[in-house]
Amino acid sequence: MDSTQVVAEVERHCKEQGLRLTPTRRRVLEMVLDADGPIKAYDLLDQLKTEQPKAAPPTVYRALEFLLENHFIHRLETLNAFVSCFHPHDQHQGQFLICEQCDSVTEIHDHGIEKLLATSASDHDFKPERQVLEIYGKCRNCRNQ
Ligand SMILES: [Zn+2]
Ligand SMILES: [Zn+2]
Repeated sequence: MDSTQVVAEVERHCKEQGLRLTPTRRRVLEMVLDADGPIKAYDLLDQLKTEQPKAAPPTVYRALEFLLENHFIHRLETLNAFVSCFHPHDQHQGQFLICEQCDSVTEIHDHGIEKLLATSASDHDFKPERQVLEIYGKCRNCRNQ
C-alpha cells in the first residue's frame, strides 16, 4: 500500500465508523505518511504552518490524538515521534525495529507477540492499555557500510 491508498483506506474506515476525518486530521496523516522516517510533532507543526499560518500546537496535537486513538499512526515513545501505519484496517499494537544509525523504522505487526505480552501481563494481574515495543539495533544497509 502506498500513502494514497492508506489515506483512501482511512477515509473509508472513518465513514463506516462515523469518525470525523477533518481536513487538518487528514493533512497531518498525509504528512506522517510522507515523512522519510519518524517525525516529531513540532516538525509537523512547521509543515502545517506553511499551509495554515494560523495552525498552533493544539491543532497538531488534537489531530495526532485522533489518529493515534484510531490506530492510523503509531507513536514511538523513546523517540517521541510518530510513524505511519500501513495496516489501518487492522486494529493492532506496534512492534518496531529501529535503526540507531539511520533512524529507519520497520513495523513488524505481529499479533502473536501482542497476545504473548497481553497474556504475560495478565499473569501478573496487570491490565495493559497499550503496548509499543521498540527494538533497537542496526539495519542491513548500515551493517553493510
Ligand atoms: Zn501499525
Ligand atoms: Zn540503518
